[in-house]
Amino acid sequence: TERSAQQVRALVVGGGQAGLATAFYLRRRGIEHVVLDDQARPGGAWLHTWDSLRLFSPAAYSSLPGWPMPPPADEGYPDAAHVVDYLARYEQRYDIPVRRGERVTAVEHAENGFTVRTSRGTWHAAAVLNATGTWSRPFVPTYPGAGAFCGNQVHSAAYRSPERYAGQRVVVVGGGNSGAQVAADLAPHAHVTWCTLRPPRFLPDDVDGRELFRVATLRARGQGEGVGGLGDIVAVPPVRAARDAGALRRTPMFARFTSDGITWADGTTQKVDTVVWCTGFRPALAHLSPLGLRRTNGVPNTDGPFAADPRLAFVGYGDWCGLASATLIGVGQWARRAVHRAFPEDPDTTHRPR
Ligand code: FAD
Repeated sequence: TERSAQQVRALVVGGGQAGLATAFYLRRRGIEHVVLDDQARPGGAWLHTWDSLRLFSPAAYSSLPGWPMPPPADEGYPDAAHVVDYLARYEQRYDIPVRRGERVTAVEHAENGFTVRTSRGTWHAAAVLNATGTWSRPFVPTYPGAGAFCGNQVHSAAYRSPERYAGQRVVVVGGGNSGAQVAADLAPHAHVTWCTLRPPRFLPDDVDGRELFRVATLRARGQGEGVGGLGDIVAVPPVRAARDAGALRRTPMFARFTSDGITWADGTTQKVDTVVWCTGFRPALAHLSPLGLRRTNGVPNTDGPFAADPRLAFVGYGDWCGLASATLIGVGQWARRAVHRAFPEDPDTTHRPR
């Protein structure tokens, strides 16, 4: 152990919803911990979504362990600002020791745990619980000619509002929820072409996050198939409105870029001002590269949130580390299991969550 390193039993990397849920269970077991987050404010990825984004589910179905999300004033589905406010208050309510503006750059094996290097210093921790999410690693696929394309390219991670694209010819790439929502958001303002690899699958209009979570829970217990993957498109009101107005017609993926647009395999071309890539994210795990973890398809080989080493856990990210773990309501159970597995000797001291 380096002499100058600060000591802590559990170090949570990332202070978004997954980091807070993990801290909730560490606190409940009386395990000394610190949460490091590289942003200036609470809120995690919710600080960076587009302005019109609304949750898939009502507040009560978007809650972290212990304290239900209060309903928004307008009774509708919460927006991102409401989630940011909830996370900030959640952090205060449970006195979660988050250090903001501290970025973890490297995690290394050390005697009895890990050495964690950050933008501010060095820590030694018995366990490292990773909750760094994905938004800081937007994924853009490589397409032929992309380098020669002179138009504007933006990932959904950086998309905010449609006004700045007014009157433009915009190609939205991606057949998931982000693609559908961004295309719907842009449709009244721009000439939108929505390109998807496969025909998009809309869930029935009455299926929202509640139903998806119920189905995911059943599936996790090995009961039943259900209405489709969590990746299918939820017909949130703006998406439904755009679809019903005929503004959400899908086009197959183009073959390559030209200097001023795109070309499909059959030779059809189109001029394009802006491409919005709604093509997903990868887990933000660069800080773990000194550990040399084995990976499959870019994600570490884990059993749910657990690496082979029980004192190294992954909470949040996506279904690879726990079904529905990348949702507000789904992350709690995985955070609880990760804490239990990392510290099996520390009993839960509270019988009832506050
Ligand atoms: P994040 O919120 O990304 O938090 C991780 C934190 O760690 C960030 O603050 C980040 O800056 C920090 N960090 C990263 N690397 C480091 C490092 N090396 N050192 C220190 N700090 C670091 N979920 C729902 O439940 N309902 C919905 O309706 C819903 N809608 C969604 C709509 C969209 C468009 C998207 C993209 C997601 C949606 N989700 C929804 C999914 C999910 O809730 C979010 O992706 C969620 O933000 C993931 O939380 P997290 O805590 O795992 O990661």
